[in-house]
Amino acid sequence: MKKLLLPLLFLSLKLSAQNAQQIHQRAILIDTHNDVLSNQLITKFDLAKLQTEGNFDLVRAKDGGLDAQIFSIWCGEKYGKGTAFAMANREIDSLYALIKRNPDKIALARNSAELQNIVKQKKLAALIGVEGGHMIEDRMDYIDSLARRGMRYLTLTWNNSTSWATSARDEVTKKDSLPHLGLTDYGKQIVKHLNELGVMVDVSHVGERTFYDVIATTTKPVIASHSCAYALNPHRRNLKDDQLKALAKNGGVVCVNFYSGFVDSTYAAKANDFYIKHKAEIDSLGKAYNDADLGFIKASSLHQKEANELRPPLSMLIHHIDYIAKLIGVDHVGIGSDFDGSESYPLQMNSVADYPKITKALLDLHYSESDIDKILGGNVMRVLKVNTGK
Ligand SMILES: [Zn+2]
Repeated sequence: MKKLLLPLLFLSLKLSAQNAQQIHQRAILIDTHNDVLSNQLITKFDLAKLQTEGNFDLVRAKDGGLDAQIFSIWCGEKYGKGTAFAMANREIDSLYALIKRNPDKIALARNSAELQNIVKQKKLAALIGVEGGHMIEDRMDYIDSLARRGMRYLTLTWNNSTSWATSARDEVTKKDSLPHLGLTDYGKQIVKHLNELGVMVDVSHVGERTFYDVIATTTKPVIASHSCAYALNPHRRNLKDDQLKALAKNGGVVCVNFYSGFVDSTYAAKANDFYIKHKAEIDSLGKAYNDADLGFIKASSLHQKEANELRPPLSMLIHHIDYIAKLIGVDHVGIGSDFDGSESYPLQMNSVADYPKITKALLDLHYSESDIDKILGGNVMRVLKVNTGK
């Protein structure tokens, strides 16, 4: 009997891996947040070719079974009136150029019907999400213009507040000195306008007060494009249980962020030690790229062995997905990696080629195929469809 058990065990492991791969390939995988476009303006990488740096290119996306990517259009808070909207358009131009050079590999999707059509043609569906309300420079006509170019979500704030919405960072660190808290009347008009245009309202990065003002104002389901569970890591960028419940009641979806700092409550202190140790190098790399975050990302790849020791296990990321699914239901959780936006992700999650590991882990936790379909993309598809009407 003993002799038989071992081969049987191997056989069942092999079958489960095959099964995971089949389920993964069949499902439509939608990642709601990737920052590669703003980096690419600096690095000039050709995203159609296999790259050894960064987390995204079209070759690895294919390997990872990625069907649709919502690309984040982002610039930092040093951009403002007269510069932020122009930067948003430059990034959209670069996505359009990538699509134009590779019509057989990638195409722009503006709604769920187009997305499904593009996936049928075995191309990557590219969608646009604008991250940071400062990029509309307080102008409704700029929202219209970005929507015409394909914007399908607007993250109401980045870390910085706008004149009409307060961010998670500012609500926590500047609570007593803010000129307003939550959404102003103009902010509420913006939410309603986004609803009319079929642009999803993204509540990642916004403060708790703004979050509840949005929930009270929106007539459509919202998205949290890249956030984790606060109960597992009390970081201001993560969503508390009551927020998650309110989001589920609204019919929305929270797409789990892979960033080690949001996944693992012990990461920030370890990353800080790493920063202090390599401060001179990180700062000079940051200067060379004119982007402090990119300096940290680069230094982490130069000191990979050391940086690897700071990374949480993959199981900790899966725990966030499982926790949210159990708390508010499997209909309200998705994937929003934040790839190319951070210096560290859980072990084994190195790039867009690694999504199948999530499917395998969910299968090991006894999630059904239909539940896995929902988590990988079905839920985002539903919210997109309700927002765009198609
Ligand atoms: Zn972000």
